Amino acid sequence: MKKICVFCGSSTGNNSIYRETAKNLGTALALNNVGLVYGGGDVGLMGILARAVMDNGGHVTGIIPELLYKKVPHTHITELFVVKDMHERKSMMYRLSDGFICLPGGIGSLEELMEVFTWVQLGYLQKPVCILNINDYYSPLLMQFDHMIKEGFLKEGHHKNLIIKNNIDNILTEMFCHKTAYEDKWE
Ligand code: AMP
Repeated sequence: MKKICVFCGSSTGNNSIYRETAKNLGTALALNNVGLVYGGGDVGLMGILARAVMDNGGHVTGIIPELLYKKVPHTHITELFVVKDMHERKSMMYRLSDGFICLPGGIGSLEELMEVFTWVQLGYLQKPVCILNINDYYSPLLMQFDHMIKEGFLKEGHHKNLIIKNNIDNILTEMFCHKTAYEDKWE
């Protein structure tokens, strides 16, 4: 079974479109027999997403560090790994997944997105990375990427590895058809 790791808010955000998208994405994963890998908590968009996968008969792998496990609520998911720390969690998430989707979220989601994007840039990962720019939430970040290219700090070839979508239509097909191209950063 293919697995997609989703980064998303541990909060729900203020606009109902974020909650609806998390629910619809979870449903789409389950109906397409694609497993979810995520942070493991029943909070914010993360909880909505995981519940939607489970409610539609899908497969959910949660990976949570000990500290958070003690603090945050959980819902019933297929499997939950409690790991030592954030580093162990992230390397396990990246290893188990065939691609990554970033829904709207806060600095935790941004950190995870930036890490996988960086790992793809350096050749540590060759898996698709998708930003779901729902409600233009990530448009300021996308402008920052353009600024990085203009100022000579990001290569267009690396930027092209990002899949950027405004909705979830065909998202899984696009991700699984995407060819992540490696371009040497130092050439
Ligand atoms: P944030 O976007 O700052 O809300 O952080 C969400 C991201 O960080 C998720 O993709 C999770 O992997 C991780 N994370 C943050 N808070 C939690 C939590 N309470 N339980 C589990 N994972 C969390």
